[in-house]
Amino acid sequence: MHTPPHSMEERGSRKDGAVMVLLVDDQAMIGEAVRRELLGEEGIDFHYCSEPTQAIAIAEQLRPTVILQDLVMPGVDGITLLGEYRARPALRDVPIIVLSTKDDATVKSTAFAAGANDYLVKLPDTIELVARIRYHSRSYMALQQRDEAYRALRESQQQLLETNLVLQRLMNSDGLTGLSNRRHFDEYLEMEWRRATREQTPMSLLMIDVDFFKSFNDHFGHVAGDDALRQVATALRNSCSRSTDLAARYGGEEFAMVLPSTSAGGARLLAEKVRRAVTDLAIPHHKPEPGAVLTASLGVATLVPRVGQTSLQLVNLADQGLYMAKQAGRDQVGL
Ligand code: GH3
Ligand code: MG
Ligand code: MG
Ligand code: MG
Repeated sequence: MHTPPHSMEERGSRKDGAVMVLLVDDQAMIGEAVRRELLGEEGIDFHYCSEPTQAIAIAEQLRPTVILQDLVMPGVDGITLLGEYRARPALRDVPIIVLSTKDDATVKSTAFAAGANDYLVKLPDTIELVARIRYHSRSYMALQQRDEAYRALRESQQQLLETNLVLQRLMNSDGLTGLSNRRHFDEYLEMEWRRATREQTPMSLLMIDVDFFKSFNDHFGHVAGDDALRQVATALRNSCSRSTDLAARYGGEEFAMVLPSTSAGGARLLAEKVRRAVTDLAIPHHKPEPGAVLTASLGVATLVPRVGQTSLQLVNLADQGLYMAKQAGRDQVGL
């Protein structure tokens, strides 16, 4: 398959490899002389600015690959101007070659300290000028390209991270209710069971089964059934009191809650709170009698894991509790 090349131009920057020179010098004669020197040089774009007060604005707009900067200018100190270029994010790294008549060590060192990259005494011969321009432009453009590649890499890494999070969430959640799905429930239960075994802390589990749900579906239809399940799920989610509590759709109209570090007493209280939350949804039902509301039965189990025990025992215990609740007439918590 053919994929179009990604040039710098497409990303809004300059053409690959094009050198752009900006000369800032108050003397038009110098401007002309340098223009003549660069005339006929392959791939060099020349711009001249005679007004030093406009140098920053023009440079920010042009984005030259190298600036040739005069030092002695009326009204503006070239050294101060160097500092101003460096203070602008867009111009922080652009190479600056000072072009001055002053062949003086103190001036040179001041210019370098202010941010100059190079220093040429006016007027250098064409060969030296062009060589320095090309050298500085090339390193600058390579730097820009590297920065751009690094930015793109970081961006795609960030995207990958975000995609992973979305995938993780999709993989762990139940499509209908948005609660954790069975897969995630199993994983979480196992992880917390191991922690409880290590730390010898009590761990509780609630199994929740909606009462008379088959006849709810038969009577009100599957769409209403699905909506009821979503409401029950919200009630469960809102009943979780700790960040470590996990509410899951166990399957069909059955739900479960993993309650790490929770004693039998605490689990019983929470189970009763969940039972009430489902009744409080006040979803009309015609079972067990006309005018009733949708209810759920719950089983509670608590264990401090002993050697040789598995989390399956906790599930079985909670299931037994649920069975008791159903036997005893539903809409209650069984132990
Ligand atoms: P019990 O009080 O003994 O729990 O009776 P029940 O009717 O709730 O239990 P049963 O297991 O006989 O029926 C469960 C019903 O739940 C069967 C099915 O129609 C319904 N059900 C399971 N999953 C879904 C679902 O995702 N959407 C809808 N609308 N109904 C579901
Ligand atoms: Mg001057
Ligand atoms: Mg069931
Ligand atoms: Mg049921």
